[in-house]
Amino acid sequence: MDINFCQICGEKLILKEIGDEGMIPYCEACSKPYFNSPAPCVLVVVINEYNEVALLKQDYVSTIHWGLIAGFITEGENAEETGLNIRSLQYISSFHQSPRNLLMLGYLAFVKKSEFIKSCEVDQINWFLIKDAYLKIREGSIAEQLFDKAIKRLKENQHINE
Ligand SMILES: [Zn+2]
Repeated sequence: MDINFCQICGEKLILKEIGDEGMIPYCEACSKPYFNSPAPCVLVVVINEYNEVALLKQDYVSTIHWGLIAGFITEGENAEETGLNIRSLQYISSFHQSPRNLLMLGYLAFVKKSEFIKSCEVDQINWFLIKDAYLKIREGSIAEQLFDKAIKRLKENQHINE
């Protein structure tokens, strides 16, 4: 994300050499550097005791594909916060999504199967068997990459066979 103007005072930013970070957009009036840090968000493979995966569908994202549970981290929140009642959580991998400069932190979360409390942003949410979930997630997506890694980890943990 290119920033050209100060978000505080509106001055045009200059490029200033800062430490070993190189040339960084900088507001001289506020003495504030603008580092191009990615926005962190979480992407979670939520799995229950029957090895079913929680997937959701948001029609504004896709009317065909289902996605993993995901969300942004706002100030004061931590990466473990998902609103679900999680029994245990494993960090799997991080992914950088270039177009939106997102740092997606991927987790595998274990929950007890329960009914979903669907937020108004979600059109459908459901439990799927792992083999069915593979067919619902968009091929080549970050969600698919995380899903692959998480299921491999799950098999190592539980020695399950499909
Ligand atoms: Zn400024």
